[in-house]
Amino acid sequence: MKYIVCLGDGMADWPIKSLGDRTPLQAAKTPTMDLMAQQGQSGRVLTVPSHLKPGSDVANIGILGYDPSLYYTGRAPIEAASMGLRIPDGQLAFRCNLVTIQEDVMVDFTAEHVSSAEGEALLATLNSELSFFGVQFFPGVSYRNLALWDDRLAALSCTPPHDVTDKEIRPYLPQGKGADRVAKLVAAARLILAAHPVNRARTDKGLLPVTDIWLWGQGKMPNLPLFETQHGLTGGMVTAVDLLKGIGQLIGFETPDVEGATGFLDTNYAGKVETGLRLLESHDFVFIHIEAPDEAGHMGREDLKVEAIEAFDSQVVSPILAYAKQQSDVRIMVLPDHPTPCALKTHTSDRVPFLIYGAGISAGLATAFNETEVSAALSFDTPWELLAYFLKK
Ligand SMILES: [Zn+2]
Repeated sequence: MKYIVCLGDGMADWPIKSLGDRTPLQAAKTPTMDLMAQQGQSGRVLTVPSHLKPGSDVANIGILGYDPSLYYTGRAPIEAASMGLRIPDGQLAFRCNLVTIQEDVMVDFTAEHVSSAEGEALLATLNSELSFFGVQFFPGVSYRNLALWDDRLAALSCTPPHDVTDKEIRPYLPQGKGADRVAKLVAAARLILAAHPVNRARTDKGLLPVTDIWLWGQGKMPNLPLFETQHGLTGGMVTAVDLLKGIGQLIGFETPDVEGATGFLDTNYAGKVETGLRLLESHDFVFIHIEAPDEAGHMGREDLKVEAIEAFDSQVVSPILAYAKQQSDVRIMVLPDHPTPCALKTHTSDRVPFLIYGAGISAGLATAFNETEVSAALSFDTPWELLAYFLKK
């Protein structure tokens, strides 16, 4: 048996007035997912334990079968793994967003999706001018970068910047032991960024400047058992996002780069599907992650979210279904990792819909794939129970 998971990040939502009181999943034309829900099993699953924040990291670790209460140490160490970055003793990995803060308000936690090349140039300058803080910056993809810094900052309480969108930042600054050190670093970085040629060029082009760094998600390296040890299956991860690549690497998956994979609406969907199907030639389990619905949710743009979901259905799920129809032993699971309601511009922990289709899966009762029309009969309180159900012989 071959197993394919198609994950639309943050795809679930709440009803939205401008969509006729429908959710983006309900409003979007998704003939492939609807057909698969009709011909397969569907239901709802709680992907995030109540005591943890509904991050993509926690949710996706769970969907891959690992209880985050036991294995999760923070977002940044997972991304460090994806970059092949070792966290030395005495240090922690931090996520370092490049953000736009104006008049103390978080205007854009992505600095208008700053390019990787611009981010790299900015961080190179910060590295040369701020090394006396003992911090080191590592460029990632777009606004998603990393820093290594003192492990005495482990107990700091930090807020993800996507939870601060359009808000006054002061109540969300790091709290606890070492917060003053972070504040000094951030202030020093702000002066350097303000004068940087990259920002002058962005402003000339009418783009938002990168005004600040935002540190969060710190932790030491987690110790996840291999997926193959857990399930006897080898796997691959197809994603544009360092976080998912890192989870893949930590559990022993192959995690190839896909040319043109951007983590946004303009991603190379065909390349991701092709890469996923190529991985299936040598592996049993493939996880294809599409980031765009989540980004649209964070932007509060239900129109873009509908567009992202329609692209997910027609350009990812549809070719995967076409492949499965030519094979005898393929199972497909489709689901979001968590809701990202456009109204909130951030994640929630509500139950999300899932569907399972393919070999050995009988037709259920659902008429369509969305938050309300999936069958109520199948309900899982943890995502690892759902995975076990999906993998059952
Ligand atoms: Zn997510």
